[in-house]
Amino acid sequence: MLPRGRFLSTGAVEAPLRAPAKTMPDPKDKVFESVAGRYYVDSQCIDCDVCRVTAPANFQREEAKGYSYVFRQPASAEEEAQCQEAMDSCPVEAIGDNGA
Ligand code: SF4
Repeated sequence: MLPRGRFLSTGAVEAPLRAPAKTMPDPKDKVFESVAGRYYVDSQCIDCDVCRVTAPANFQREEAKGYSYVFRQPASAEEEAQCQEAMDSCPVEAIGDNGA
C-alpha cells in the first residue's frame, strides 16, 4: 500500500491536507508490532511517514500492511524529544503516550 499524501523532494510524504477526523489514540487499539512501553501507534495510522522521518530511531513502517509502529522505545533525551515531536505532528493522532 502506498502512503497517502504528497511526496516531497526529500523523499518524505506530506500528510494529506484533509486528514480524517481526529480522535484520541487508543492503547487498546495499538498495532500488533508496537513494542511494549510508553509510545505506541494505533490503527488510525494513515502511513504518512511523518513519525518515521521525525523519529527514525523509534518508528518503522510495516511494509506489508502499510502503517507505522514503534519498534524501539526512546533511549535518550534526544529520542524522547523526537518521539514527542512525532506524536505532536501526527495528523490523525495515531501516536499515543501511555505515560509508562
Ligand atoms: S503514526 Fe501518524 S505520523 Fe506516523 S505514519 Fe501513521 S499517521 Fe503518519
